[in-house]
Amino acid sequence: MVSRVIPVDPFDLVIFGGTGDLARRKILPALFRRFSDGQMPEDARIIGAARTKQTAAAWTKWVHEALKEFLPKEELGKTLVKAFLERLDYLAIDAVGEAGWPELKAKMRDDVTQAFYFSVAPSLFGALAERLHSNGIARADARIVVEKPFGRDLASAQALNATLAEHFAETQIYRIDHYLGKETVQNLMAIRFGNVLFEPLWNAQYVDHVQITVAEEVGVGGRGAYYDKSGAMRDMVQNHLMQLLCLTAMEPPNRFEPNAVRDEKLKVIRALDPVASTDIVRGQYVGKSSYLDDVEDPASRTESYIAMKLHVANWRWNGTPFYLRTGKCLKARGSEIVVHFKETPHSIFEEDAGNKANVLSIRLQPNEGIDLRVTIKEPGPGGMRLVDVPLDMSFADALGHDASHVPDAYERLIMDVIRGDQTLFMRGDEVEAAWAWTDPIIEGWKARNDKPVDYETGSTGPEEALMLMHRDGRRWRDLA
Ligand code: NAP
Repeated sequence: MVSRVIPVDPFDLVIFGGTGDLARRKILPALFRRFSDGQMPEDARIIGAARTKQTAAAWTKWVHEALKEFLPKEELGKTLVKAFLERLDYLAIDAVGEAGWPELKAKMRDDVTQAFYFSVAPSLFGALAERLHSNGIARADARIVVEKPFGRDLASAQALNATLAEHFAETQIYRIDHYLGKETVQNLMAIRFGNVLFEPLWNAQYVDHVQITVAEEVGVGGRGAYYDKSGAMRDMVQNHLMQLLCLTAMEPPNRFEPNAVRDEKLKVIRALDPVASTDIVRGQYVGKSSYLDDVEDPASRTESYIAMKLHVANWRWNGTPFYLRTGKCLKARGSEIVVHFKETPHSIFEEDAGNKANVLSIRLQPNEGIDLRVTIKEPGPGGMRLVDVPLDMSFADALGHDASHVPDAYERLIMDVIRGDQTLFMRGDEVEAAWAWTDPIIEGWKARNDKPVDYETGSTGPEEALMLMHRDGRRWRDLA
């Protein structure tokens, strides 16, 4: 099946932080892919902006190297790459100084969509927003894209929101959580709200529990200094896992439209019960790699793993726990949302026939896809022997796409910015509500000087996290 590509309007996209790691690894390769797919119009322009003084030609060469590093060779046709690179320009600009701003103003066109990607440290967001205005560059319909982390607690997130609000309306601000740009996450909404099959069962009467996992094989690596001030709760739970939880638990929005979807997500965060300390496990990896060797503070109490049991206190979910876990240096990399349905109310088969409860798993990575396990009869004679088999919907197979061409989240999200669609971006109040829920938990750890438990590098996580499930008579899904 050939994918339908709807071209976007002509645009000027300025990437502040255009010489940085995120630009190199994600933003520029994503833009190239959209270009090669025909979504970018002829007169689209991408302007890199950073402090480094260099010519447009030098930056273009650097971008070319980045494409070669992060995209498969077969995608990089010579003519295509040349045509893409011709759309690039560069300006040396200082976010906190005056250099480069008049030149940027002179470059911007009046009659195309304006977007400014703030791919710089959050401490520079305010300076960028202010200068875009004081230099008369950003129009009233310009869009700004801001990266994570969006604050480190409620107070800093509120301050960041207030700073941006001085110069930009909420409708102009695109807060990225790249998990929302993943095909499977959007498919979760398509599955729930585009079929009649699931929604009637999507509640406490039929769902036993939900597991949300984001597991990484790698440690904190070169990010030790940043990570140690953050930890898994701030780095992963407050944003990515919370967003996945919201999309899974939310009520049907009346339309697939930015504020309708975001209103429903916000209600989920506000419905979360405070978590008992006995329902949270914090861990630090030890052994072959050790967290304490990867960070500066030899006595750090920052968690590299977290598992927790949550309750969404509303009619739909009363009695259905949501178990979340995320961690580094685990046995395998994998992200998924798994909905464990209840067993049939009464089994007509013999007790040992093999009847299993249905499980719907939504895999975000690797191999994005959806898998529903259903019970059928084992073929052949020998009575009614039951077996559960997967109804596997691997997108790549089902839709005839090459798996390596499943669009990266950034491709979708950047084009949404250009199209002016905020549905898959976090609204300011959502981010604040998530911090308002997270803050007391983190403050509690601090007040108690809580020490994370150890878990072996390459394991499935701390023993205590297994117990969190076992004591409820449940178990975590295996990390593949
Ligand atoms: P980075 O590699 O350190 O790059 C920072 C960029 O900011 C560079 O292009 C740098 O340009 C520019 N910059 C620094 N000071 C500046 C100033 N005063 N004026 C103008 N430009 C300035 O950082 P990054 O990893 O790309 O991260 C960028 C943002 O994305 C951060 O907010 C980060 O938290 C977020 N993020 C990154 C990742 C990732 O995978 N890298 C993932 C999620 C979120 P010069 O070097 O030329 O000065």
